[in-house]
Amino acid sequence: MTRRFDKSFTQQEPIPEAAIARAVEIMQSGRLHRYNVAEGETSEASLLEQEYSAWQGSRYCLACTSGGQAIQIALRAAGVMPGDAVLANAYTLAPVPGALHAAGARPVLVEIDEDWHTDLADLEAKAQASGARFFLLSHMRGHIADMEAVMAVCERHALTLIEDCAHTMGARWNGVRSGNHGRVACFSAQTYKHINSGEGGLLTTDDPELAARAIVHSGSYMLYGRHGAAPEEEVFRKVRLDSANLSARLDNLRAALLRPQLAAIDENIARWNKRYQVLEQGLRRSSHLRLPERRQHEAFVGSSIQMQTPALERDAIPRFVAACAERGVELKWFGDDEPRAFTSRYDSWRYLGDVPELPQTLAVLAKTLDMRIPLTFSQDDCAQIAEIVVDVLSGF
Ligand SMILES: *Cc1c(COP(=O)(O)O)cnc(C)c1O
Repeated sequence: MTRRFDKSFTQQEPIPEAAIARAVEIMQSGRLHRYNVAEGETSEASLLEQEYSAWQGSRYCLACTSGGQAIQIALRAAGVMPGDAVLANAYTLAPVPGALHAAGARPVLVEIDEDWHTDLADLEAKAQASGARFFLLSHMRGHIADMEAVMAVCERHALTLIEDCAHTMGARWNGVRSGNHGRVACFSAQTYKHINSGEGGLLTTDDPELAARAIVHSGSYMLYGRHGAAPEEEVFRKVRLDSANLSARLDNLRAALLRPQLAAIDENIARWNKRYQVLEQGLRRSSHLRLPERRQHEAFVGSSIQMQTPALERDAIPRFVAACAERGVELKWFGDDEPRAFTSRYDSWRYLGDVPELPQTLAVLAKTLDMRIPLTFSQDDCAQIAEIVVDVLSGF
């Protein structure tokens, strides 16, 4: 069988018609800046904040320019000061160390386990040894650690938890939405995430002072009264002169692109999960592929799938990836010494300075292959992709 798959792994669905129509109206109005409102008007960015906080189940929400900016703002608003130690899981995407660096934090990287979760024993040991007061947890590729256990470690060491939910928008642990466990959560609306405005970020929290700081950090000038899901004026009075303006506001145009997508997100999550199931079932036909064991409490969003090829030697992996690519199937390898596209490994963030080696993380990533699942793939496409991967692997 030499069938080739011919769809793009990076092709997203079109922006919904209603969003396009609203975006055109906003362009016609000329009022693209979130604080540029007509008498009595609530800006599109504020409407998005109201709707997102209602859907997420958080008291407050801030819309900003990117997920990475949301993380940087969350770190600062949570009280991270230059030189502070911040625990962070080592398996994540480059905007995360970038945000830590921008906030002047001293990252203390934590190992991951065989199933791509943060390693709780290593977290506990490093919390103890570093004296850190913060933990930035990326639910990388949608793998959610046992959040009750995470919270227990946070309580024992008085850690403030900041959640990076770039891959868990809409996911839940034990019925609680991802992002509602910690003090503050960050989401991305970049093209490859669960809602797409090209670039964009959201921050949610129940903490009024943190929300006020975040809003002022995003660059509210003194117009925070025009926000959609913000605390009372008096909270801002306490913090407004102490939080630097980082100019990270979301504009009305991109908010208009996101609102109809938010209305459709639950339906889209179900579509992602169907595709994931078909892929998983197909891939499980090979006894030489190891797939994530999802835990009972984890309601994840299957927007990507990870796999390991335990039987392949290290130098066979790039050849296997290339052979899949020949057949039109795009796998990314997280073990490459040379960072490519989204696969960067913690040792490629040299600006972090000397990071102690994380042998367990390196060993897991050395075997990790990653596949994106865009909604433009049908379930049949997913079945075909799985067949190709299994077929190619059988030749190795
Ligand atoms: C995408 C992503 C972010 C934020 O990315 P932006 O491109 O800045 O929106 C943060 N963390 C992880 C794990 C991501 O994948």
